[in-house]
Amino acid sequence: MSWRIEIDEDLCQGHGVCESEAPGVFSVAKDGRLTVLRPTPDDADRPAVDLAVRYCPTRAIRVTEE
Ligand code: SF4
Repeated sequence: MSWRIEIDEDLCQGHGVCESEAPGVFSVAKDGRLTVLRPTPDDADRPAVDLAVRYCPTRAIRVTEE
């Protein structure tokens, strides 16, 4: 089963916790703009992405299974 990352851009405040947890998947610019580098990451990335979901201060990250 594949999975993908979705961001609620209304909630995201550019804290950058996600980049700290999964730097190959998320990138936050100096102005706080978030880029999801790989919206459909490999399964090997899942533990790091799950940590990003857990620790995002605004709960802006969601993982959906496809
Ligand atoms: S940790 Fe959450 S609020 Fe911060 S940049 Fe990432 S998605 Fe946005």
